[in-house]
Amino acid sequence: MENRTYTADAEPGERVTVAGWVHELRDLGGIAFLILRDKTGKIQVKFAKDEMDDDLVEAGTSVSRESVVTVVGTVEEEPRAPTGVEVVPESVEVVAPADPELPLDPSGKVDAELPTRLDNRTLDLRRDEAKAIFEIRAEILRAVREYFREVGATEINTPKIVATGTEGGTELFPITYFGEEAFMNQSPQLFKQLMVGSGLERVFEIGPIFRAEEHNTPRHLNEATSIDFESAFIDHREAMDVCEGAVRAAYEAVDENCREQLELLGLADEFEAPEGAFPRLSYGEAIERVNATGELDEQLVWGDDLSTEAEKALGRDVGGHYFVTDWPSEIKPFYIKDHDDDEALSTGFDLMHPRMELVSGGQREHRYDELVAGFEQQGLDPDAFEYYTKMFRYGMPPHAGFGLGAERLLMTVLGLENIREAVLFPRDRQRLSP
Ligand code: ATP
Ligand code: MG
Repeated sequence: MENRTYTADAEPGERVTVAGWVHELRDLGGIAFLILRDKTGKIQVKFAKDEMDDDLVEAGTSVSRESVVTVVGTVEEEPRAPTGVEVVPESVEVVAPADPELPLDPSGKVDAELPTRLDNRTLDLRRDEAKAIFEIRAEILRAVREYFREVGATEINTPKIVATGTEGGTELFPITYFGEEAFMNQSPQLFKQLMVGSGLERVFEIGPIFRAEEHNTPRHLNEATSIDFESAFIDHREAMDVCEGAVRAAYEAVDENCREQLELLGLADEFEAPEGAFPRLSYGEAIERVNATGELDEQLVWGDDLSTEAEKALGRDVGGHYFVTDWPSEIKPFYIKDHDDDEALSTGFDLMHPRMELVSGGQREHRYDELVAGFEQQGLDPDAFEYYTKMFRYGMPPHAGFGLGAERLLMTVLGLENIREAVLFPRDRQRLSP
């Protein structure tokens, strides 16, 4: 739009065209106010009924809330206005009227339940708090992307429609691909690994993953965004260093560049980037510590996965981000390498936030014979993965990497209760639209 001025940039003395939504109308008798809202903020438009043309006053005061309007007028200083300035209008045009009955109140005066908000996301994201979450999300993705570029990784995009899942199993969504069965990919795992053997060597991807998880939880989505990294010639320890760097970069970017949004979310005082290196606990140490808290009904034994309760007990005990390393091989996927000196121990690691798992990663099995044996042990048909295993016969370097859930990162950075707050249009058991 030509000559449009954002409300935040309107300076006293200027003649401006502002455009946005009718946030509020206040009629005080001889004088009426229209509060116009755009992405940068709000501005008051004043209608002095005796001094102005009747048609102009009518246009500015009969419009319904949340209608889209453009106002041409002069900006004047007004100490009593919320932003210290107001617009004295020459013309008001209703560009797109809104129904007077709104499914939710974007001014935030009336609270709406999450399902109502998600059904009407457009209106929901006119609220400052909801909008702030997605501005922070964009900043986190920007910072993580920049961090990966700094460590020399190339951004890639891999297929989401695949012939076989990454790990097989029940978490796959089947689709029909020209009459053949295909699937939505669970993870870019196998493709990103293939790229470390290509000339690219070190890659990252930020893209959707699809998981047919049956359960409805506050931290699972059926379509999530995964931040993946994979590099040739590094081991699991170096992958943990990069993982920690990426998470730290996200926090620091929010700390530096999102103060306004943190303020809107009521987090300005409590927000802090994690300090110090993330402790690295071995799985053995982790289960001992969980058991020592005495918070579980049943003690964990070697080979148990960490249950949600165990993760929470350990999170409270550690009090910050931490890695769990050296898992029993049998509970980590086949493509993760075991320690050379102890086959029962995996190089797999998880990065935990006190509230939940954020990342899984590890060094990968790059030796052809061991990889194929791993498929068989996991009950998968190596022939179905021939496109992948074949490349391990043509020079596949040692490599490591990780997958970090973008929504879980955002959720833990901001302390959101439900992962659905961290995604525009969540996909879950009940929700396929919008
Ligand atoms: P969990 O045990 O918490 O269900 P997972 O171990 O199955 O997670 P991974 O396959 O290790 O998940 O995926 C790597 C990361 O991707 C996870 O640590 C998490 O941050 C994110 N992630 C995985 N599944 C989901 C999901 N259904 N919804 C949101 N994020 C997910
Ligand atoms: Mg995991």
